[in-house]
Amino acid sequence: MDEARSRQIIIAGAGIAGLTAALAFAMRGYPVTVFERAQRLDEVGAGLQLSPNATGILERLGVLSGLQNAAVRPEAVVLRDAASLAELGRVALGDFAERRWKSPYLTAHRADLQGALLAHVLREPGIDLTTGATVRDVTLHPLGVTVSVETSAGLEQVSGMMLVVADGVWSGLRRLTGGADTASQFSGHVAWRRTVRADSPAGRSLAAIGVGGTVNAFLAPGFHLVTYPVKAGGALNVVAFTQGRLAEETWSATLDNTVLKRAMGQTAPDLLRLADDVGEWTVWPIHTVSRAGPWTAPGGIALIGDAAHAMTPYAAQGAAMAIEDADTLAAAVLAQPGKLSAALSAWEAQRRRRIERVARRGDFNRFTWHAAGVAAMVRNIALRSRKPEKLAASLDWLYGWRPAAQQP
Ligand SMILES: Cc1cc2nc3c(=O)[nH]c(=O)nc-3n(C[C@H](O)[C@H](O)[C@H](O)COP(=O)(O)OP(=O)(O)OC[C@H]3O[C@@H](n4cnc5c(N)ncnc54)[C@H](O)[C@@H]3O)c2cc1C
Repeated sequence: MDEARSRQIIIAGAGIAGLTAALAFAMRGYPVTVFERAQRLDEVGAGLQLSPNATGILERLGVLSGLQNAAVRPEAVVLRDAASLAELGRVALGDFAERRWKSPYLTAHRADLQGALLAHVLREPGIDLTTGATVRDVTLHPLGVTVSVETSAGLEQVSGMMLVVADGVWSGLRRLTGGADTASQFSGHVAWRRTVRADSPAGRSLAAIGVGGTVNAFLAPGFHLVTYPVKAGGALNVVAFTQGRLAEETWSATLDNTVLKRAMGQTAPDLLRLADDVGEWTVWPIHTVSRAGPWTAPGGIALIGDAAHAMTPYAAQGAAMAIEDADTLAAAVLAQPGKLSAALSAWEAQRRRRIERVARRGDFNRFTWHAAGVAAMVRNIALRSRKPEKLAASLDWLYGWRPAAQQP
């Protein structure tokens, strides 16, 4: 086996996880080939909150500067009662976040993040990206992996040191690590998403509530709605979470908005009006993936991002975890040259602890944010009496996280 092949990293999927992994491995001197099923990387998805644990990595990979123009640096996360719009709690971001957690807290459209990653990948001579190429299978052998890739020209075999599976929540390749429970599960909740121009009637109505320049979560029984600025502040990402039965696998699905109107029934008129704009909303069924199955296979496979552990979005950490996975995986492989299996199992053990804690935080957020009756009153009292400093301190483990090699 020649030297180039012995270090070749093959990545399936050019989403946030796959593109970050490509850069993280290339930065460490590995040649990388990325295969992406889609013909073009379209502007799909919605807004993303990018917390300092993720932006720190993006900064180190040189991607953050390419995102700065489109991203927004919000001043705070504000929790509000959706009926009265009254403020319940606030975590300062902006300069405070950057001082405390050493990197900025940003909001951006997913397409802008993917675009910034892609621009960097295309400039990197060590990375080869092929679109319209679907990874179908892999064979493990003593020399590494041989991956079957389908393109319009037919089936091709490509060999390398390892395969990084980053094919997202609807992963068809999750099975490659031998897990039993590989299909994603519909959580019973759907995310209603729309992008509102800041100068539109809906944008002005939200501005009148005072959401400008901040992340706002409006809490109601069985429901919450989040808004934050994207597109350099020219637009607001609005996402509402309700129960739902839709389980289709697409961002572009539309649904009769009576479900949304019912869920928003007890919210303030300025919010409720948003539900009227039929046709503006797209719906995303929230699927999760069992974390019981293995994320690695000895000898050369690692699942990262949603392919490994798609979680509910209530801690706003799915993309951040994909970014952390990608960077820590490349560091783990580099740290143990010639001992790939040991490196993969050490990486998996370390990532499991982190991912479990983050996923639990998301479950906790949904439970408390959707509380009703007495439980909601207790939550509101607790939030109002909590000093902002204490709220920020409760997030240190999440936002202040840094890869092991960089711990002070
Ligand atoms: C409503 C909502 C709000 C969210 N908000 C946040 C947030 O605020 N902050 C945050 O950090 N996260 C958030 N997330 C989560 C975040 O969007 C995802 O966790 C993240 O985008 C997953 O990235 P990925 O690269 O793993 O998967 P994807 O982005 O799905 O990428 C997978 C890629 O693999 C390709 N592919 C699939 N199969 C193959 C194959 N066989 N061969 C080759 N290519 C293939 C696909 O075409 C795709 O391009 C949110 C999610 C939802 C639903």
